[in-house]
Amino acid sequence: MASETEAALAATPSDGPTVFDKIINKEIPSTVVYEDDKVLAFRDIDPQAPTHILIIPKVRDGLTGLSKAEERHCEILGRLLCTAKLVAKQEGLDDGFRIVINDGRDGGQSVYHIHVHLIGGRQMGWPPF
Ligand code: AMP
Repeated sequence: MASETEAALAATPSDGPTVFDKIINKEIPSTVVYEDDKVLAFRDIDPQAPTHILIIPKVRDGLTGLSKAEERHCEILGRLLCTAKLVAKQEGLDDGFRIVINDGRDGGQSVYHIHVHLIGGRQMGWPPF
């Protein structure tokens, strides 16, 4: 949606605190659908489909986006995807779903704390715009 693109263009890539830190620290409300010691999954505030969930690591450790991933991040990256699969099952997305990781300005990233979008509950189109 246009406002999300505008947010991405206005975002400053940095390793500073983001709105997701406030969600992790429960300083602002969110609808958490899954949580363990490493990851948090909560509903997107601006859902693009009947199910739209964000899955994030609780500790950013420099992983602002996928393009910043280093060897030490491989385990948490796998954990994010495995959590997406688990949450998809929990949400009843038995006919399929889409996973999205926006990276950087051209990728439309607006929050610089890596996150996996789990989107489902409707037929997806291709190509994505
Ligand atoms: P991206 O554009 O890939 O960086 O995605 C950031 C996502 O964070 C967007 O889909 C936003 O709607 C979502 N978002 C921003 N603030 C919040 C919030 N307070 N609670 C839940 N989702 C949020």
